[in-house]
Amino acid sequence: MATGAVRWRPARVIALVAGLLIVFTLYRGLFYDPDTVTVGDQKISLKKEKGKPFAVDPLMKMTGPPAGKLYGPGEAAKVNATLLSLVRNEELDGILQAMGDLERTFNSKFNYPWTFINDVPFTEKFMRATKAKTKADVFFEIIPKDHWDIPAWINPDLMTASARLLEEQKVQYSAMKSYHQMCRWNSGMFYKHPALLKYKWYWRVEPKVHFFCDIDYDVFRYMQDNNKTYGFVINIYDSPESIASLWPATEEFIAEHPEHIHPNNAMRWLTDSENRPEHNRLANGYSTCHFWSNFEIADMDFWRSQKYEDYFNHLDRAGGFFYERWGDAPVHSIALGLMEDRDKIHWFHDIGYQHIPYFNCPNSDKCKGCEAGRFTDGTGLDQEDCRINWFKYAHMN
Ligand code: GDP
Ligand code: MN
Repeated sequence: MATGAVRWRPARVIALVAGLLIVFTLYRGLFYDPDTVTVGDQKISLKKEKGKPFAVDPLMKMTGPPAGKLYGPGEAAKVNATLLSLVRNEELDGILQAMGDLERTFNSKFNYPWTFINDVPFTEKFMRATKAKTKADVFFEIIPKDHWDIPAWINPDLMTASARLLEEQKVQYSAMKSYHQMCRWNSGMFYKHPALLKYKWYWRVEPKVHFFCDIDYDVFRYMQDNNKTYGFVINIYDSPESIASLWPATEEFIAEHPEHIHPNNAMRWLTDSENRPEHNRLANGYSTCHFWSNFEIADMDFWRSQKYEDYFNHLDRAGGFFYERWGDAPVHSIALGLMEDRDKIHWFHDIGYQHIPYFNCPNSDKCKGCEAGRFTDGTGLDQEDCRINWFKYAHMN
């Protein structure tokens, strides 16, 4: 019986391994394209066009909703979610416009409750007008003082002096105290509001934003069923001067808490220095590419996790919400890029959206009033788009 058996001499094993290696290398050489990514079920080329820093247009050729089972109105149980807006009484017209768009394209079909939050009480006029804009429930909440106030360890003189320096560097809103408070609240407080504790999911909505496309499936249900944490529409570069010490502070945190870093993180997206190397240099190692957080569809349990709490506390103590002008967008983005599984982050390519001056405009007949592929108002800001980085570095096939 032994006559027919293969004898595994070392030389044969080596020859077999070498043969397999040669076949694999040839296969990769012939068929593997590092500039191609798979988004949903579509393969998209990210080859750079001559004279243009990024090839954004191909991403916009994507059509249709995401892959997988989707649920239309009334087809599945509602998810534990709210539409959420931090807004000022003076922004009533702007929020009515944004609400109108979101009700028309999505919420009139799904009836998720609206929660409006303010640091001062809402006026009767505000409450009456917003309630009249939806048939869903509407809630009005005030921020607890200790969530909004500037923390006691912040030195007011140093804050004023820092704001002056930042203004010289043209950092928008640097001298506006409430803007700093808003960024800190959106970074580490909103999901702790007592009225939000009962919700897991939120869709953040700002005054004056536009929604252009009919969304016929329950986006929260999509997030839940597909095990996603965070949904975005736009990725842009930040002003590096506003966050000069955010990455160094983050590096300290990583050294203190290596256990919080996710093995499938998006570090390469966070630290890219190939595109806009000057941004990376001025931000001391962070590309500044971030999810633009005026739009977010996300799971608050991520923000409520111990790892995020540790990160927020580390940043809060470092003082950069007030001595610099750290935005909640880069803070959320760095936290997600480091501590969440990057496959749990979803690009809602099918949600047509505008917050001045940027758009996400899908190529779909479900969209009205938005030119497919358009990114800016024609103000020469196309180089601010960094969605391509996300797909290249974080969403590789
Ligand atoms: P930008 O998008 O960075 O230019 O900042 P916005 O002015 O749009 O502010 C971001 C969000 O926070 C918007 O929803 C504003 O309505 C809200 N916001 C900003 N500052 C305050 C504030 O002092 N009080 C309240 N209640 N909302 C604020
Ligand atoms: Mn805004």
